[in-house]
Amino acid sequence: MAKIEMVISDFGGVLTTPLSEAFLAFQDKVGIAPENFGKALKEATEKTGTNPLFELECGRITEAEFDEQLATALEPHLGRRPDIRQFGLDIFGTLEPNVGMIDLIREVRRDGLRTAMLTNNVREWETLWREMLPVDELFETVVDSAFVGVRKPDPRIYELTLGRVDLPAGACIFIDDMKVNCEAATELGIHAVHFRETAQARAEVHALLAG
Ligand SMILES: [Mg+2]
Repeated sequence: MAKIEMVISDFGGVLTTPLSEAFLAFQDKVGIAPENFGKALKEATEKTGTNPLFELECGRITEAEFDEQLATALEPHLGRRPDIRQFGLDIFGTLEPNVGMIDLIREVRRDGLRTAMLTNNVREWETLWREMLPVDELFETVVDSAFVGVRKPDPRIYELTLGRVDLPAGACIFIDDMKVNCEAATELGIHAVHFRETAQARAEVHALLAG
């Protein structure tokens, strides 16, 4: 088994408080029932043949275009056109850094491991998420779906990350709060840790490092 040399972390929901909480707060503010949000995205996907959220995360549409598509899809459910401009600002207004996981990144670096971030994100949100944590101090590289044009769980984004850090899959631990993203990593031979809560994820990373 290859020696583990690197920890690759997701951003939202791992290095931050849960995204689900932020989405609920946003939906509450705009007056959207959570089930309508999912329904609207599904309908927009059926109508256009592509999922607007995936298009946004791959940088193929702008945040403004996403907001338009989502508002149009939500309108029949709400009986009015919702104002979802500044969706990102609302989400980031609710998210907090997850200190326990940020500390884990610092600890493994201190122990001589390398670290990277692999995130499905939005171009227009870059300054928002970078304000939440000292990214350049914590990570030698960031792979952001919106800038590379491919998103997790597509194997190409993991391969791109491994190529960028020049390591084999077996030398890396990958932490993500979405099971499907972990499964894709495992498929490639990366040691995946499915984040459910901070203590559990920290323990699993330490267990892998202890061999
Ligand atoms: Mg996440």
